[in-house]
Amino acid sequence: MNKLQQKVLQDGQVKDHDVLKVDSFLNHQLDVDVLDDIGQQFYDCFKHHGVTKVLTIEASGIAIGLVCAQKFHVPCVFAKKSPSTNLSQDLFTSKVYSYTKQKEYSIMVSKQYITANDRILLVDDFLANGQAMQGLLALVEQAGALVVGIGVCIEKTYQAGGKQLRKKGYPLVSLVKVASLKDGQMILE
Ligand code: 5GP
Repeated sequence: MNKLQQKVLQDGQVKDHDVLKVDSFLNHQLDVDVLDDIGQQFYDCFKHHGVTKVLTIEASGIAIGLVCAQKFHVPCVFAKKSPSTNLSQDLFTSKVYSYTKQKEYSIMVSKQYITANDRILLVDDFLANGQAMQGLLALVEQAGALVVGIGVCIEKTYQAGGKQLRKKGYPLVSLVKVASLKDGQMILE
């Protein structure tokens, strides 16, 4: 059992609307030992894939992207959710429907930071219906770069995202697989 599995079993809380709350170690307060282990696990899985960049989404993805990038010694790029004056106008953009907020938002990355030569590792905290990952994949596609791996901390395997990505042939690794959150009860695979 990896450190994240232990932590999810110990401190994960099932909330209404099918949401697993991991605020005490992954989404608000950050457990650096668990995060370091997450980075190591993804490094071990994808170290032979020639990763040149790690791409994730703000805000929860940043800590995960950072620990991974540190292991690979490559830059971590995070897609932004809102334009700002110091962001270049030359952007790749896509739309994501948020599972937890139940609304659509745009994500964007400066064209400077993903190029056609890049071999990208995508990482995120959760994979549910796969909307966030599809948004990231669209950014990479616009750049003409290659996705060489996808690392997800917690996959809810009873939702469609993981199945769809595997069917498309992406090498997807999930460190924790949640089989069910029914009736407030968490069951891991
Ligand atoms: P998807 O786009 O795959 O439907 O959902 C993934 C995104 O929604 C993640 O980036 C994550 O922020 C959020 N998410 C989905 N399910 C959960 C959950 O059970 N708990 C938490 N904390 N976030 C979730």
